[in-house]
Amino acid sequence: MVDSHVRGVQVKENIKFTPSLSEQRHKFVLDFVRKHKPQKIPCSLKTSLSSFLRKVADLGCANCKLLWRLKYHESIEVLAGLDIDENILTRNMLHTGAGDYLDPRERPLTITLYHGSVVEKDPCLLGFDLITCIELIEHLEAKELSQFPEVIFGFFSPTTVIISTPNSEFNPLFSGKTLFRHPDHKFEWDRTQFQSWALDAARHYGYSVEFTGLGEPPPGAEAVGFCTQIGVFVKTIPNTVKSLHDEKTIECAHTTVGTVIYPSLKEEKYLRKAVSNEVFSQILKMKRVLLESLKMKNDNDNSDELEFVKPKCDESKNDPTEEIPKPFCIENVFYVPLERLFSFPKIKHLCGDLETLKMLIANEVMLSSDGSSVMINTVDEEDCDLSDNDGDDLRFV
Ligand code: SAH
Repeated sequence: MVDSHVRGVQVKENIKFTPSLSEQRHKFVLDFVRKHKPQKIPCSLKTSLSSFLRKVADLGCANCKLLWRLKYHESIEVLAGLDIDENILTRNMLHTGAGDYLDPRERPLTITLYHGSVVEKDPCLLGFDLITCIELIEHLEAKELSQFPEVIFGFFSPTTVIISTPNSEFNPLFSGKTLFRHPDHKFEWDRTQFQSWALDAARHYGYSVEFTGLGEPPPGAEAVGFCTQIGVFVKTIPNTVKSLHDEKTIECAHTTVGTVIYPSLKEEKYLRKAVSNEVFSQILKMKRVLLESLKMKNDNDNSDELEFVKPKCDESKNDPTEEIPKPFCIENVFYVPLERLFSFPKIKHLCGDLETLKMLIANEVMLSSDGSSVMINTVDEEDCDLSDNDGDDLRFV
């Protein structure tokens, strides 16, 4: 292997990053989003939180890999991808899968892919909390690059912008004699060029900017800086209502390649299903314990050993579930008080209050005449008949 010299430092060729730089760049964005997620609230609360990073757009999204990973962030409700290459978008259009329906998100999520150029003004990209341009600007022609700040910072004007681009000072550390790292790159900047461009744009459009990077140089070559340079822009001057209104009058320039709306617990039908599934699962567990206990009771006639499934709780305190009404059996009917069901953390989180729990399961289960318990007939579903039990009502302690 041939070694090359950078500013007097001998370094090995074929520098490789693990994880790959592309992976690291996406992780940088994901970590940024994670740092700004809003607090959790019960999903039954219908108020819309003004979370910091609810709407995120990735410009020059290519194969949509970053969008695909952002989709798993609960805080995000709107994702948009834009690329000038329509084929790559069509090939990578995101779809919902069975898992998305089985385990719906707490918040709604819509992903839309647009075909168009980043330097075209289109109202579809207004009002975003974060716009990312990962390894995009170096693909722009000089004219496009000159239009870029006005469109991104001036028109789209999101709360935050993350721009990454190669740091040309690092290039001598790579093997090969090509001018740029990629044949489609129109330029590659050193740190001074990128930072003065970014500072100019930030100053002009009311943003602050901080610089960082990814991909450490090898020991001895620290002076060249990171392989990828990154600018994180944060808006310092909020948009006025008037400016947002004026901008909306502009016509659409991008074409929509596709939109995917993911199932979420904000839609009552999915919330109803999720609550019912959890309720049934807890009732079945309780019933199983009941039946096993009964078998033991019949075998040993030792009713003191009966124990019930209790929701997980902080065991360091007095057991709070002791106060909660317990399930019981009358003849062949198993009664589970709603209050007991509501004490399971997942059910409580999904419903928020007891009345909502009752409303959501009313059509899925049979409720006792006073509406306080779910009733399950034990005979049809299990081969064990509870009526074997001397005719006494069973209660669990
Ligand atoms: N951001 C991606 C890929 C970067 S490659 C990643 O992190 O992996 C640059 C992408 O920008 C390409 O997909 C290219 O088609 C797109 N592109 C180039 N010029 C563009 C323009 N004017 N408007 C929108 N996208 C553009």
